[in-house]
Amino acid sequence: MHVRTLTGGLAATLLMSLPLLGGQASAAGPSGGSTVPAAAAARILTYDASGSAEFKSAVDRGAAIWNESVDSVELRPAASGQRANIRVLADNGWPRALPGSLGNGTVYIGRQAVNQGYNTVRISSHELGHILGLPDRKPGPCSSLMSGSSAGVPCTNPYPNAAEKAEVEGNFSATSRAPAPRPVLVGD
Ligand SMILES: [Zn+2]
Repeated sequence: MHVRTLTGGLAATLLMSLPLLGGQASAAGPSGGSTVPAAAAARILTYDASGSAEFKSAVDRGAAIWNESVDSVELRPAASGQRANIRVLADNGWPRALPGSLGNGTVYIGRQAVNQGYNTVRISSHELGHILGLPDRKPGPCSSLMSGSSAGVPCTNPYPNAAEKAEVEGNFSATSRAPAPRPVLVGD
């Protein structure tokens, strides 16, 4: 008899507690979410590919690949007439980049390499990689974006590897003290 009474009391307690728990659980959702720090906003860099002639779609794809690959920086097409962080030009030389301060500079999509068969999207994302602070890593495998032409004409990989992504994330993180790229021409 005593056991049955106790069991009944526990059951009653549980029945009363469950709605309370449910109420607390749903109330904890929004308040819990607000205590999570918001992700740092990506640094926006604009690029102007209006001078990249027949390579414009490759340049747009190269920028999109970086946007897929990293969170701390985002490349956006500049509005017409807007001064862009990055200018992308086509010319008849070898592809190269002229970085200024981190995230700024000029990229040349050179037809000399394109005519030899090098992939235009890999060239584009490689040169944009220089503007994002990455040096050449040559010679290197095709899995490395910054191995550039040293990976050979058959290499069409336009994606940065994990280390290259991490380096760019670090360059643009809020606490980064990464030095600005040297303002010298980076061939290929
Ligand atoms: Zn290079």
